[in-house]
Amino acid sequence: MARSKRYEFSKGTKREARHRSRDLCEAVGEVYGLPPGQRCNAPLSAGVEYDHYPAPATDKGSDTLENCVATCKTCHRFKTSSFDVPMQAKAKRVSDKHLGIRPHSKWASRPLGSGNNQRSATRPLIRKSEQV
Ligand SMILES: [Zn+2]
Repeated sequence: MARSKRYEFSKGTKREARHRSRDLCEAVGEVYGLPPGQRCNAPLSAGVEYDHYPAPATDKGSDTLENCVATCKTCHRFKTSSFDVPMQAKAKRVSDKHLGIRPHSKWASRPLGSGNNQRSATRPLIRKSEQV
């Protein structure tokens, strides 16, 4: 426990970050589950959290205003989970994608019963609707 001391923001720093945010979530980019370079801008009236970024809270001197990001709960939760277990999260996402393709290959392996005596069923049906 002692090795992971956290440098929490002071009240003043939080207040300044909140002021800087103009009450809109300051989270930006993929770290928070957003498109690269895009800011969340969710209203913070529903609940504000202060995230250490880019330096983690365990870094000495991470409790500065520059490293303080006023985020909504959704963004903070995303970053916490994806940063704590990045490998797991990634693996899960990949397997989900994989599973999503399965039904199609099952269909493709079935013989196409539309033709009478035409033997064109060997060609697998490839759908292009897999865009995520
Ligand atoms: Zn947000």
